[in-house]
Amino acid sequence: MSRYDLLIIGGGVNGLGIAADASARGLSVLLVEKGDFGGGTTAASSRLIHGGLRYLQYGEIDLVRESLRERGLLVRQRPHLVRPIRLLIPAYQGQQPAAWVMGAGLKAYDLLAHDPVFPPSQRLPPAALPRYEPGLSLAGLTDGFLYSDGQVEFPERLCVELTRETRAAGGTALNHTRVTALRTEGSRVTGTSLRDELTGRAWEVEAALTLNAAGPWVDAVNRLLPGTLPRLVGGTWGSHVVLPPREAGPRGPLYALARRDGRPFFLLPWDGRLLVGTTDVPFEGDPDTLRVQDWEVEYLLAETNALFPGCGYTPADVLHTTIGVRPLPASDRSAGAITRRHFLVDHARLHGLQGLGSVVGGKLTTYRSLAEETVDWVFRNLSHPSVPPPCPTRRILRFPSPEEMTDDCEAALARFGAAPGSGARLARLHGPRWPELLERVRQEPELARPLFSGSAALAVEAVHAVETEGARTADDVIRRRLMLLPAPAEAAESVVELCAQRGLSVVKARDRQ
Ligand SMILES: Cc1cc2nc3c(=O)[nH]c(=O)nc-3n(C[C@H](O)[C@H](O)[C@H](O)COP(=O)(O)OP(=O)(O)OC[C@H]3O[C@@H](n4cnc5c(N)ncnc54)[C@H](O)[C@@H]3O)c2cc1C
Repeated sequence: MSRYDLLIIGGGVNGLGIAADASARGLSVLLVEKGDFGGGTTAASSRLIHGGLRYLQYGEIDLVRESLRERGLLVRQRPHLVRPIRLLIPAYQGQQPAAWVMGAGLKAYDLLAHDPVFPPSQRLPPAALPRYEPGLSLAGLTDGFLYSDGQVEFPERLCVELTRETRAAGGTALNHTRVTALRTEGSRVTGTSLRDELTGRAWEVEAALTLNAAGPWVDAVNRLLPGTLPRLVGGTWGSHVVLPPREAGPRGPLYALARRDGRPFFLLPWDGRLLVGTTDVPFEGDPDTLRVQDWEVEYLLAETNALFPGCGYTPADVLHTTIGVRPLPASDRSAGAITRRHFLVDHARLHGLQGLGSVVGGKLTTYRSLAEETVDWVFRNLSHPSVPPPCPTRRILRFPSPEEMTDDCEAALARFGAAPGSGARLARLHGPRWPELLERVRQEPELARPLFSGSAALAVEAVHAVETEGARTADDVIRRRLMLLPAPAEAAESVVELCAQRGLSVVKARDRQ
C-alpha cells in the first residue's frame, strides 16, 4: 500500500495550494479530487481577487489586510491570470450604506492596501458617471466612486498551474478520484479508501496526516468516519449568470447595491461577456444537488436591467450559469455577516482524533496564505523538524505580463498558419508556459488549426490539456483547460477524435450539470 506524509482531500484552489506548497517544502503528498481540479466552488466564484471591501463593514480588518497583501502578491506572481481592475460604484438616493460611509470605507481600503499597482479610490460627481458608463441609469444617482481590486478570469487555470507545480515538486494530484472511506486505527486516522470515478478502480492509501480540504463538502467527508464530528460548515449558495455584451450595457466592472434588497452584487466584464452575481442563500445539504433557481436568474437580470435600462436582458439571453456553496464556518449569523476568514480545525486537539485536520472557509484570494499556514501546521504535527522549512510561495517571481509575451507568441504561431489572435490567447491562458504549446506544434504543425470550425482555441491546446495538464474528460479539456464556456456540442466530438487519433485516452462523459 502506498504511504504518504500528507493526503489532501479536495482539489479546489485551497487543496491544490496546500499540495503545491507542501510538495515544494519536501513532503510526500497525494491530493485526490472526486471531479476535476478547480471544478467545485472555485469555478463558481465571482473570480475576484479582492480585499473584501464589504468585510470592513463587519470590522474584519485583519482579513482585509491579509486579502489585500495576497492580492498584491498574486497580481505580481501570476500576471497572466490575475490583473488589476477598476470598479465603479454608482450610489443612488436612499441606498444603505450612504455615499459618505462608502467614501470613508474606500479611504480605509486605500490606506490598508497602499500598493502602487492598485491606484487609490476616487469620488466622482454624478455628472461624470456617463463618461465611464453611458448606459447607466441616472435616475436618483447621487454619487459615484472608482476603486481598485483584482480579477482572476480563470481560477480553473490557476488550479491547473497549482497541479503542475505540485507534480513538478514530486507530489501526486489525481482528479476523478473520490475518497470513499476514512480508515482509522484506534483514535488515529491512518488512511483512506479511494475510487477512480472514471474507471471504477478502488484502492487504499496510508498517510501520516490527512487534510480534509473539501470546501462545502467538508462535513460530508468527515461523516465517512465511524464517530460523529461536529458540523463545521454552514454554507450559503451563490449563483451567477453570464450574458452577451450589449451596446447599452456596462463598459467596465461595477459593484452595485441591488434595489430589491440592498445586497451588493457585481457586473463584471469577463472573457468578452458579462458575469453578473451573486445571490447569497443559506444552504445545508449536498452541493452536488444544487441547481440555479429561476428566481435567481430573474433577480440578477432585473437588477442589471434597472442599472442599465437599455439592456432589456431576458432569461433567453443567459449564455451560462454557475452555482456554488461558500464553505463558510457554521454560524447563526445572517448570510452576509458570516466571516469569510479561514480556520484550520485540529481534530486531535479538539476531538481527540489524531492524524486529521479540516480546512474551513477561505476565499480564492487567500488560498496562498491559507496554504502557508496549513503547511506550517502540518510540519508541527509530523515528526519533521519543529521549525518548518521556509514557505517558497511568498517569493515574488517576476513573470512577464501577457501583453509582453503576445507579440513573440503571435509571430511564432503565425509561422505555422495559426489564426491571428492565437498568440494573445495562449499568452493569456498559459503565461510563461506558452512555449510548451509551440514546441508541440513544431512536432505536429497540423495542431495549429482551430479545434473546431469557428473556434478561437487551437487543436494543440486540447492535446496539451490531456498530455500535460491532467485533463481526463472532454469537459475537463473544454471547460477547465481551454475555458470555452459555453462550448458547442461539436467541441467534445473534436476533443475525443483528436485525442483518439493520438492514442490519448479521454472520456466523453459530461460534467454533472
Ligand atoms: C458564489 C460564490 C462567489 C465567490 N466569489 C469569490 C470571489 O470573487 N473571490 C474570492 O476570493 N472568493 C470567492 N468565493 C469563495 C471561493 O470561491 C471559495 O472559498 C474557494 O473557491 C474554496 O475553495 P476550496 O478549495 O476550499 O473548495 P472547492 O473549490 O469546493 O474544492 C473542494 C473540492 O473537494 C472535492 N471533494 C468533495 N468531496 C470529495 C471526496 N469525497 N473525495 C475527493 N474530493 C472531494 C470537490 O469536488 C471540490 O472540488 C466565492 C464563492 C462562491 C460560492
